[in-house]
Amino acid sequence: MFLKTEEEIELIRESSLLVGKTLAEVAKIITPGVTPLELDAIAEEFIRDNGGVPGFKGYNDFPNTLCTSVNAQVVHGIPSNQPLKNGDIISVDCGVLMNEFYGDVAYTFEVGEVSDKIKLLLKTTKECLQRGVEAAKAGNRIGDIGAAVQTWAEKNGYGVVRELVGHGLGRNLHEAPEVPNYGRRGNGMKLKEGLVLAIEPMINLGKRNVKQDSDGWTIVTSDGLPSAHFEHDIVVRKNGAEVLSTHEFVEEVLSKKVN
Ligand code: MG
Ligand code: MG
Repeated sequence: MFLKTEEEIELIRESSLLVGKTLAEVAKIITPGVTPLELDAIAEEFIRDNGGVPGFKGYNDFPNTLCTSVNAQVVHGIPSNQPLKNGDIISVDCGVLMNEFYGDVAYTFEVGEVSDKIKLLLKTTKECLQRGVEAAKAGNRIGDIGAAVQTWAEKNGYGVVRELVGHGLGRNLHEAPEVPNYGRRGNGMKLKEGLVLAIEPMINLGKRNVKQDSDGWTIVTSDGLPSAHFEHDIVVRKNGAEVLSTHEFVEEVLSKKVN
């Protein structure tokens, strides 16, 4: 576990803000008919134009800039040339490496008009993220984050993915500690000031179980029902988490979008 200096925290903030802006560029063009590969190309160009390097491309040989996970795909989807359809959802997860520090942010987008059931899944998953973030204050424990996420998801009847977790973040995309989206209050490592974490609930409309697709990357729900995923980068502070990343740029684009 690495505790970051204020200087390092600022560099992580800059990288995560560039991810937030990249996701906003992606948000502009998400519409039925566009392909995940087209989103990927836009994202890579935008990151490089702004002084960053795609954080996922080449990481463990992942082939692309974005992880794009559609409907029953949970995370780690490889961008395809399959056009998005009205009513789909797509989790877009993006990493940036800049000034030797990573940012890592995800947002699940609606494609065209989605059902009320799906809208509620997305809203609740965002709330899970918010609750997880609020639990990440100095003196609390890792289990408090997971418990906050799990309690809210399960109260709403959803499944919490356990096989994939949030993580520490810094000079490496994935650092200790792991940040599960389930857990018990008061359990696990104590959170200290300066710890930077990526918190990323993956919440299923149906059961929690997942499996890996034959492509060796994509994680999908076992029951074939949709899954949502939102991610923020935070730093643990004495009186609560400070969120370093932002979904504001994305949401500004979405609020102006007509479809
Ligand atoms: Mg991510
Ligand atoms: Mg992550």
